[in-house]
Amino acid sequence: MKKKDLRSDTVTHPSKLMRKAMSSAEVGDDVYGEDPNVNRLQSYTAELTGKESGLFVPSGTMSNLIALLSHCQRGDEYIVGQQAHTYKYEGGGAAVLGSIQPQPLEFAADGSLDLQQVKAAIKPSDCHFARTRLLCLENTQGGKVLSLEYQAAADQFAKQNNLSLHLDGARVCNAAVAQSVSLQEICQNYATVSICLSKGLGAPVGSVLVGSKDFIEEAHHWRKMCGGGMRQAGMLAAAGLFALQKQYERLTEDHIKAQTLAEGLQKIDQLSIDRDMVQTNMIFIDCAAGIQEPLTNFLKHKGILISGYGQLRLVTHLDISDSYIPIVIKAFQNFFQE
Ligand SMILES: *Cc1c(COP(=O)(O)O)cnc(C)c1O
Repeated sequence: MKKKDLRSDTVTHPSKLMRKAMSSAEVGDDVYGEDPNVNRLQSYTAELTGKESGLFVPSGTMSNLIALLSHCQRGDEYIVGQQAHTYKYEGGGAAVLGSIQPQPLEFAADGSLDLQQVKAAIKPSDCHFARTRLLCLENTQGGKVLSLEYQAAADQFAKQNNLSLHLDGARVCNAAVAQSVSLQEICQNYATVSICLSKGLGAPVGSVLVGSKDFIEEAHHWRKMCGGGMRQAGMLAAAGLFALQKQYERLTEDHIKAQTLAEGLQKIDQLSIDRDMVQTNMIFIDCAAGIQEPLTNFLKHKGILISGYGQLRLVTHLDISDSYIPIVIKAFQNFFQE
């Protein structure tokens, strides 16, 4: 029985063709700037996002960290969502390693940060306060896509208020595909964007940070300091290039699978899904508190893995084939019938 792992889109395995691209990749020493595939990946991603430069980084966590370290000095502050990955799920790295103070704010239901609230959180220029330097947004946020209008307004707002604007775009490719726009159209609103290759795009490892040439030079320095300088990384970069070139457009399929899955699960009385919030490849499900654990265990026995902290979360990706969807819905139904 094949496992149906819906915990995250990070669990994808490299396909045969991706492995082929990796194994035949030409390599060099990237710390000397001599790995052709790393260079290719960086310039390809920069072009795709409309930025001057890109930097290949081992993980999204390090990519966000070095972006924060490059934007902010010791004693500066960044404004970020209370549930944002860079604030809540990255070990407090910006504070610990950068002496950068986070100012978290609640996300609105649509995954945005209310710009009036951001405005109110900006500290006056006074020695009592940290210097508010940066606004950090996330797109997609919990699978939700930020509107283009909002992102343009955030860009204007940041400029008016002398803030830099960084996007944790771990899944920004999902957002672009869902809105049928180019990555450039989204990324033009931000000074810097971090993109995960190892989520829905299906590469085994890596993220790319993009921004201006000067910014990426600074980030390069911080990457080295954080221990992120890799040598013959071209095999990984080749996987990243393959992911961007061959597995980007297909993200639409993951979104369609998520809709089909949500539609089926919604019919089960004991489950509640806010369908408006299913916009890309993630489904969040509310159910009675006592049900979560036995349900998760029941599904696990059937080879179906889901995750849940408060809400249950199911994520579709390239290793969840169309044929799995009715099987997963059936398994949920069986649990409630027994
Ligand atoms: C996964 C993720 C990251 C970075 O994750 P890594 O596991 O370090 O690559 C950053 N932000 C968001 C929103 C993510 O989902």
